[in-house]
Amino acid sequence: MSRIAVYPGSFDPLTRGHLDIIQRASKLFDQVVVAVSNNATKKHVFSVSERLEIVEEATRPLPNVDVDTISGLLVDYLKTKKSKILIRGLRVVSDMDYEFQLASFNRRLYKDVETVFLMPDDQYTYLASSMVREIARLGAGTEQFVTPFVARKLKLKFSAKK
Ligand code: ADP
Repeated sequence: MSRIAVYPGSFDPLTRGHLDIIQRASKLFDQVVVAVSNNATKKHVFSVSERLEIVEEATRPLPNVDVDTISGLLVDYLKTKKSKILIRGLRVVSDMDYEFQLASFNRRLYKDVETVFLMPDDQYTYLASSMVREIARLGAGTEQFVTPFVARKLKLKFSAKK
């Protein structure tokens, strides 16, 4: 049976840290689905279709990685994908509080689910989409934190707003 893992997140935008996690997961599982969340209560810089396009562009070289959007309950999505594996990234100890709560909650909702935590390379442990958005908004280049495609999109997004 092939092992399908789902990596959910906002990816607003995808960073090199997210990509590092996706690459690691793609080596561990037969198929990885990056599930871009479409949460109406969160205010995003990029629309869900823009975030989807960004993840698709970045993961094109990885044949066993698919991209999808998700708007309902994560555990329902896992069931439709016939997956029991959730991937999450852990950067620093402070991530743990939230991530453990989320993992426990998901296990309450679907007892067979296993959340697999992956650590990125050291160079990405400080990196967060929120920081990238903030510096882009203030006019700084983001090339070292995101792919060239995302850096261009951020530039366009924030120069259009000035
Ligand atoms: P969410 O809103 O679901 O937290 P994010 O896009 O912020 O969505 O993050 C998705 C997942 O990727 C989370 O598990 C988060 O901890 C992880 N993540 C975010 N940035 C990094 C990074 N630089 N390195 C490793 N994992 C990361």
